[in-house]
Amino acid sequence: MRCNEMKKGQLLVCEDCGFEVQVVKECGEECDLGACCTGDISCCGKPMKLKE
Ligand SMILES: [Zn+2]
Repeated sequence: MRCNEMKKGQLLVCEDCGFEVQVVKECGEECDLGACCTGDISCCGKPMKLKE
């Protein structure tokens, strides 16, 4: 998941170490071309998974 695809309240989890992050505030449309949105949010070298 890239940060500009995530909605408030969604959780990402790392399947390797169990690290979890939750979206408290969404990034805005100005983030579309931001450096933080060029790839998946990752932990332990892998993309983090959305937790249902
Ligand atoms: Zn991890």
